[in-house]
Amino acid sequence: MARERRETSLEARAVAAQRAYVEALAELERTVHIANCPACRPDGTMECEHILRCSSAEAEKERRRVFFRDLCDELGYVPVGHGIALPAVHCPSQPRAG
Ligand SMILES: [Zn+2]
Repeated sequence: MARERRETSLEARAVAAQRAYVEALAELERTVHIANCPACRPDGTMECEHILRCSSAEAEKERRRVFFRDLCDELGYVPVGHGIALPAVHCPSQPRAG
C-alpha cells in the first residue's frame, strides 16, 4: 500500500528527528552544566562565552524540537519504543546516583 509505505518512511524520519532532538537536549544539558559547575568549567573561559554557548545550544535544541513535533503532527502520533534515552551528564564533582 502506498499510504502505508509513506507512513513508514515518515515514522523513520520522525524517529531520526527525535534522536537528533534528544542529542541536542543532551548537548544543552552538558553545556549548561559546564557553564555552572566549578568542577567541569574550564579555566579561563569568559562568562559571556558560556552564555553564548548555552543560548546557541538552546536554539539548536528548540529548532530540532519544532522539526520533530511537526513530523509527529504529520504522522499523527509520537513514535515510541526506539530506545532513545537522554544520557546523563557525567560530572566528576557529583557521585553517581544509586
Ligand atoms: Zn560538573
